[in-house]
Amino acid sequence: MDLFNIQSINLSRLLREGGSAEAGGEIHGVIRAGEEEFLLDGPDLWKASVTAVGDGEFWLSGEIAGKVVMECARCLEPTSAAVRAYFQHMLRYEPGQDQIELIEEGEEEVYLFGHPDLDLSSFLAEAFVSAMPFTVLCKENCKGLCPVCGANRNLVDCGHAAPHDGGKLSGLKRFLDEV
Ligand SMILES: [Zn+2]
Ligand SMILES: [Zn+2]
Repeated sequence: MDLFNIQSINLSRLLREGGSAEAGGEIHGVIRAGEEEFLLDGPDLWKASVTAVGDGEFWLSGEIAGKVVMECARCLEPTSAAVRAYFQHMLRYEPGQDQIELIEEGEEEVYLFGHPDLDLSSFLAEAFVSAMPFTVLCKENCKGLCPVCGANRNLVDCGHAAPHDGGKLSGLKRFLDEV
């Protein structure tokens, strides 16, 4: 068993006595969200706490932080991006509930769970992935790929002329010249 990658919190005592419980750990390698896998740069650290609020309901809150490997938006080289995310959810214990299930009750969203060992992996992954930036740059002045030969212009000078003001702008300028 991979001790580093346990992402659960045991709520047996909470279910009997109320109060709150805390857990934390590290995620190594990849983080999985549905079908997708995201490669991590170093371990992700997470912590979570669950507080009984009565009537079989629990308030889950937590935090996850680490670095994910993305592609530079210009040169496509692997680029590390820092991510920090927080999450809060209302949970309800329903004995016999097979899997964690999200239901909507009026304005509120409640997650049903049926096992005292609450699996946090989907909460952690969802929070982490939704906090990831849409795009990253390997460096602010990344020169990107040559539009002619595809060479990484940070590494080689292929000699092809590049539009001085960037493709988008010159396109706009051409468009403005035409109208
Ligand atoms: Zn780049
Ligand atoms: Zn080139």
